[in-house]
Amino acid sequence: MSEHPVHTHPDPRCRELFARMSEYLDNELDGSLCREIEAHLERCHACKVCMTTLQRTVALCRQAGKAQVPDSLSRRLRELIGTLAKP
Ligand SMILES: [Zn+2]
Repeated sequence: MSEHPVHTHPDPRCRELFARMSEYLDNELDGSLCREIEAHLERCHACKVCMTTLQRTVALCRQAGKAQVPDSLSRRLRELIGTLAKP
């Protein structure tokens, strides 16, 4: 399996932010970083869509009684953000 690198994404901050989204959802990040993420989501549609998807998935996982979001989820979301970033 070969994955396309997401080097075409318009904002390199997205990938860094992306790695922190699950922590953000678990409220494990400090306040300034949370605000940074929220500010980014305000102006980045791709990240906002991904965050909405992630929030929904986390809610479903919790309903199902799982404490943690599976590792495969972050990989799937990374593919999603790559798709959204394409023109
Ligand atoms: Zn972004």
